[in-house]
Amino acid sequence: MSDNRKSSGYVVSCPKCGKVHQKSITTESIIVCSRCGYEYYLYLKNGVYLGLPASQVDDSQLFGKVRMFASTLDSLFQPEAACQEKRM
Ligand SMILES: [Zn+2]
Repeated sequence: MSDNRKSSGYVVSCPKCGKVHQKSITTESIIVCSRCGYEYYLYLKNGVYLGLPASQVDDSQLFGKVRMFASTLDSLFQPEAACQEKRM
C-alpha cells in the first residue's frame, strides 16, 4: 500500500552500499556510486527497475537479453500498448 505516486519518480540507490543517487521516472544509464565507486547499469522505465553490474554490460549477449527482458516487462505494464501491438 504505497501512495507515493505524487512524488517525483523512483529513488535510485546504489545496489552495493545503498547510497541514494537520484530520483527519476525514466532513465537508462551507467551510474558510478560516489561513495563506494560501484559501477552499475540502471534501466528504469514505467515502473520497471533493472540494475546490474556495469561489468556485465560488457557482455553484449547478456546485455541484449536484459534489455529484451526490460522491454517485455515494459509492455506488460502498458495495457494500451499491448493491445495495440499486432502479432506478425
Ligand atoms: Zn555505493
